[in-house]
Amino acid sequence: MSTAPDHSTTSQTGNGLLIVLAHPDDEAFGLAGTISLLRARGVPVTLITATRGEAGEILVTELATRDSLGAVREKELRDAMALAGVDDIRLLGYRDSGMAGTPENDDPRSLVRAPAGEVVSMIAMTIRDVRPAAVITFGADGIYGHPDHIAIHHHATAAVALAADEGAPVGLGEPWRVASLYYNALPRERVQRMAQRADGPFRSLSAEELANLGTPAREITVTMPVADVVETKERVIRLHRTQIDPRGPFAGLDREQVKLIMSWEFMRRVDLPWSPADNPARDPVAELLASRQPDVEAVIRDLEAV
Ligand SMILES: [Zn+2]
Repeated sequence: MSTAPDHSTTSQTGNGLLIVLAHPDDEAFGLAGTISLLRARGVPVTLITATRGEAGEILVTELATRDSLGAVREKELRDAMALAGVDDIRLLGYRDSGMAGTPENDDPRSLVRAPAGEVVSMIAMTIRDVRPAAVITFGADGIYGHPDHIAIHHHATAAVALAADEGAPVGLGEPWRVASLYYNALPRERVQRMAQRADGPFRSLSAEELANLGTPAREITVTMPVADVVETKERVIRLHRTQIDPRGPFAGLDREQVKLIMSWEFMRRVDLPWSPADNPARDPVAELLASRQPDVEAVIRDLEAV
């Protein structure tokens, strides 16, 4: 027996954030500042990570073997998110599909081979369980085109619609309309500028990759200042120890450059087929942004410096 939830009131869980990504560490570079700031404000944050990143690199060889990497990365994820204040982590248990064109793409357990309906249902069930005000996932660009990033973008976007659908299959829980959907973004022009630096990250990318990487700046609607938690963010990133060059996440750049790169986080708010007024929940991302009152001139100065 169940009682219908009262959609007219905002429960505590109705004001939270759900983040849906593919691998341990996807949350660190682009969102760890926003996550830390939201947790400091008491906003509930749930993270869905679809795989354990089994096909990732092992940059510090003594930390993991190919066989142990998934378990090691799950521990890294839990440690990193504990530092950011998040303990509600839900792994979907798919296998990392690897970069495009690698043999891992063909593994039947991989995220890219998983039936869409199955993945979408799992995410929709979590949306109905958590009842978040906002959802963040990747955009169709997958930041840099990783097949799992693109897959989870499609699945999470479909799950937001399925969770809201009154006619969805029974067993998913009571319908829930999120107030906002965001795609985590990397400003394309900034990456293109950074790639021109002989010592910068992204310098190994081809012209074709650079032309399609990230999101055009004009499409980015959220530029979140996170400079005041940048030390925490760096520690979160470094806890993904197998994924970080021991010399530092941006080895080759000086301290100030690294700080500038990490001091802003970007998103694109996506139109939903229902009105924000349909959901009484307050969007925690929009509220955080409004509370930060970013200095537009500082944004432009910082973004052009790197
Ligand atoms: Zn990833």
